[in-house]
Amino acid sequence: MKLNSPGEENQTAENSFAPMIISGPCSAESEEQLINTALGLKELPRLDYFRAGIWKPRTRPGDFEGLGAQGLNLMQKVKELTGFRLMIEVAKPSHIEQALKHQIDAVWIGARTVVNPFSVQELAETMKGISIPVFIKNPVTPDLKLWLGAIERFHKVGITDLAAIHRGFHYFAKSPYRNAPMWEIPIELKRLLPEIPIITDISHISGKRSTLAVIAQKALDLDTDGLMIESHFDPDSAKTDAAQQIKPGDLKLLINNLKVRKHHNYSGFDITLEKLRTEIDKLDGELLQLLAKRMEIIDEIGRYKKQNNLSIFQLKRWQHVLDDRLSIGTNLGLNQAFLLQMLEIVHKASIGQQEKIFHPVEAGEPRTSTSSDGA
Ligand code: PEP
Ligand code: MN
Repeated sequence: MKLNSPGEENQTAENSFAPMIISGPCSAESEEQLINTALGLKELPRLDYFRAGIWKPRTRPGDFEGLGAQGLNLMQKVKELTGFRLMIEVAKPSHIEQALKHQIDAVWIGARTVVNPFSVQELAETMKGISIPVFIKNPVTPDLKLWLGAIERFHKVGITDLAAIHRGFHYFAKSPYRNAPMWEIPIELKRLLPEIPIITDISHISGKRSTLAVIAQKALDLDTDGLMIESHFDPDSAKTDAAQQIKPGDLKLLINNLKVRKHHNYSGFDITLEKLRTEIDKLDGELLQLLAKRMEIIDEIGRYKKQNNLSIFQLKRWQHVLDDRLSIGTNLGLNQAFLLQMLEIVHKASIGQQEKIFHPVEAGEPRTSTSSDGA
C-alpha cells in the first residue's frame, strides 16, 4: 500500500523537513479564519495537506456543527490562493460526494466513525473506484482490531492510498493528556501493517497547546510518518477545540525545534548500533535459556505437588517471591512497575504449566492457554 506524499515534490534542501505535515483549523468557521490561517501556514517548511472539519461530530446538539457545503466553497478559495492540497473529514456517503465536487484531495475518517463498522463499510463502498488518499483515525476506544478492521475495509474495496492517524484513546484512568496516546497500539499497528504510514495527531492527543511540542518529539522519536496539528490564526476565538489549536507562527517554531530521527538502514552499517544489538541478542538468548530452565524446574515442582496433594498456588510463597525479586530488581536499578508486570507474567505461566500436570488433557484435545487470574 502506498501513500502519495505530495509535499515531497516541493521540498528543497533547506526546507526538507521529512515527516508529512497536515495542518489547518479544527473546523472551517469563516472565510477570514480560513484564509488568514492558510496564509500563515505558507511559512511552514512543509505542508502536505491543509485540513479543516466541514461537518463536526459534536457530543451535544446545538454546538457549532460546521459550515457544511459553504465551508467547502471556502476551502476551494484556500486552494486557489495557496495551491494547498485539501483534506476534510467525511462521515457519510453524501460527504464524500460533496468533497469530490469541491476538489478535495484527501479525506480522513474520524475517531467516532471508526468505532462503527457499518458506517466504515458504507464509506468504503462509496469510495470504491475513487483514487484519493484515505486517512483512518484510531477509534475513540483503545481497540486495535477496530482500527485494523477499518483499514481492511477500505483496502478490500481496492483503495491503496491509505494511512492511519493516531489521535489517542479515551481511557478511564487519569492521563495528563486529553486522549491517552497508548503508543504501544500504533506500534503494534505498524508491526502488523508496516506499509501503512502512521500520522500522529498531536492536537487531539494533547488537548492543550502547552504539551504539543513534547508529544510531537515523542512521535518523531518513535518514527512517526507525519504530524497532524490543528492551527488557527486566532485560536482563542475558535468555535471548536480552542485550547489545542496553535497559531501558524508558533507551529513554525515548534516544527523548527523538532529533532527528526534518521531511520536505521539495515543494509547500511552502523558499527556502534550493530555491536550493541549483538550484545542484546546474546542477552536475550541467555534470558530465554534461563526461562526454559526455570520452566523445567516448575515441571518438577508441579509433579511433586501433585504426588503430595499440595495446592498449586501458595500465597505465602508468592508473596515472598514478589518481595524478594522486587527488592533485588529495584536495587539493580530496574523499574518497579516493569518488574511487577514481568513477575506476574512469569508466575501466571508457571501456574499454567503446573495446571497441565494436574489435569493432563486427552492426547489430541486442544487446550486453551493458561488463565489463572489472581494465582
Ligand atoms: C478533528 O480532527 O477535528 C476531529 C474531530 O478528530 P477526531 O475524530 O480524532 O476526534
Ligand atoms: Mn478538533
